[in-house]
Amino acid sequence: MILSPYDNDEYADVREGVRRLCADFPGDYWRKLDETRSYPTEFVNALTEAGYLSVLIPEEYGGSGLGLSAAAAVLETIQAEGCNGGACHAQMYTMGTILRHGSEEQKQKYLPGIASGKLRLQAFGVTEPTSGTDTTALRTFAKREGDEYVVNGQKIWTSRAEHSDIMLLLARTTPRDETKKKTEGLSTFIVDMREVVGKSLTIQPIRTMMNHATCEVFFEDMRIPAENLLGEEGKGFRYILSGMNAERTLIAAECVGDAKWFTRKSAEYANERQVFGRQIGANQGIQFPIARAYANMRAAELMVREAARLYEAGEPMGAEANMAKMLAADASNEAANVCIQTHGGFGFAEEYDVERKFRETRLYQVAPISTNLILSFLAEHVLGMPRSY
Ligand SMILES: Cc1cc2nc3c(=O)[nH]c(=O)nc-3n(C[C@H](O)[C@H](O)[C@H](O)COP(=O)(O)OP(=O)(O)OC[C@H]3O[C@@H](n4cnc5c(N)ncnc54)[C@H](O)[C@@H]3O)c2cc1C
Repeated sequence: MILSPYDNDEYADVREGVRRLCADFPGDYWRKLDETRSYPTEFVNALTEAGYLSVLIPEEYGGSGLGLSAAAAVLETIQAEGCNGGACHAQMYTMGTILRHGSEEQKQKYLPGIASGKLRLQAFGVTEPTSGTDTTALRTFAKREGDEYVVNGQKIWTSRAEHSDIMLLLARTTPRDETKKKTEGLSTFIVDMREVVGKSLTIQPIRTMMNHATCEVFFEDMRIPAENLLGEEGKGFRYILSGMNAERTLIAAECVGDAKWFTRKSAEYANERQVFGRQIGANQGIQFPIARAYANMRAAELMVREAARLYEAGEPMGAEANMAKMLAADASNEAANVCIQTHGGFGFAEEYDVERKFRETRLYQVAPISTNLILSFLAEHVLGMPRSY
C-alpha cells in the first residue's frame, strides 16, 4: 500500500535500501529486545555499515554529505517499517554541533570516526532533574583548573549513555547570578566517556514504558581536557540550540513514519477482520478514524518537508521545525490510538507489535520538547503574544 507520493521522491532509492535492511529486523526481533530491555546492537551496526547514520556528515569527513531531507527519509522509513530509530537517531544529528561549532582539529579528530561507526556519539547530556525544560537553570558545573575542566553534577534522561563512546555535555561555567543573561555562562563539551566511566562518571539506567536505553548520569570531579571545549566558553547554549531545529525535524520525520506504520496496519486489519459476517472496515465508525489519521499524517508530512527545505536553503525555520514536530507527534499518537481501537483486544497482544509501537511513539509528545513548549514558542515568537512563563 503506497501511503504517500513522497515515498517515490528523490530519495526513493535510499528508502528502498532502508526497507530492505529493516526486513532483516522483524517484529519478533524488537519484541525479544523489549522483553530483556536490550539494545538493538545488530540493527544499529547494520545501519552504520550501510552508511545510513552518516548521511549528514560531509564527504571530506567520511560521510555522504547529504541534506536533512535524506536523513529524514532514512528515519521515517525505519519507523514506517516497524523498527525503532530511537536507538540510534542521535548518532546522525548530534555531531552537527561539532560540525558547526568545533575547531578543524576537533572535526578531524571526531567526525571520521563517527562516520565509520568506530566512534559512537549517541549521548546528549542537557536535561537535569531539577531544571527540566528550563535548561538555563541547569546546575552541572565545569570549573576550569589549568588545562582541564572539573565537572560536578547530574543529568537525567541521557539516552544511550551506555552505548556511546562520547557525550555532548552542556554545563555551567559561570554561575547564573554572575551573568547578564541566563543563557550566557553555559558551555558545551565533548566528553570521552571511555576514559571516565566507572570512575568519575556513573551511569544508571532508568526503566521506562518503552525500551529506550535512557539513563541518569552522575559526574563527580570528572576531569575533561580543556581542548574538549566546543567553540567559546559561555556560548554553549547557542551551540546546543542551533542543533535543535534539525533534531525536531528529524524526530518529526520519525513520527510520520510511525503514523504510516499504524495507518497501514489499521487499514489492513480493518479489511481482513470479519465480525457480524462482514469486514469491520465496512463500518464508518472504523474507517473514518483511520481516514482521519491518514489525513493528519499527510498534513504533518508536508510540514516536515517544508522544515527540511528551509533548513537546506539556510533560511530561518524555527517555527516550521516546531510545528512539524508537534503535528507529526500528534499524527502518530492519534494513529497509534486508532490502531489499537481497530484491533480491538488484539491491539493489546504483544505479537501484533501495535502496543509496542504505541508505547514508543507516545514519547514524542514529551521529548525532545513537549507540546506545551512548542505552543508557547508559536504564541510568543510567531503570534506576538506575551511570554507565558
Ligand atoms: C525517554 C526519554 C529520553 C530522553 N532523552 C534525552 C536525552 O538524550 N538528552 C536530554 O538531555 N534529555 C532527554 N530527555 C528529556 C526530555 O527532553 C524532557 O523530558 C523534556 O524536554 C521535558 O522535560 P521534563 O521531563 O523535565 O518536564 P518538565 O519541564 O518538568 O515539564 C513537565 C510538564 O509540564 C509542562 N510545562 C513545563 N513548563 C511549562 C510551561 N511554562 N507552560 C506550559 N507547560 C509547561 C511540560 O510541557 C510537561 O508536560 C528524554 C526524556 C525521555 C522521557
